[in-house]
Amino acid sequence: MGVKIRCADFNNDCPAEFTAGEEDELLQHVELHTRTAHQPMEWTPELVEVVKTHLQPV
Ligand SMILES: [Zn+2]
Repeated sequence: MGVKIRCADFNNDCPAEFTAGEEDELLQHVELHTRTAHQPMEWTPELVEVVKTHLQPV
């Protein structure tokens, strides 16, 4: 089973969405996206936990 997330779920005006085969892989995509597209937002352990609550199975 894979997982999916949409950046817009975080009240961002951002069309990005990501799908991956597993949670760890998805989190890597989201981390890279956050660091590059949403500066100066920081990738923190707290943010990882929030992101995990928005994951959807695909
Ligand atoms: Zn985004």
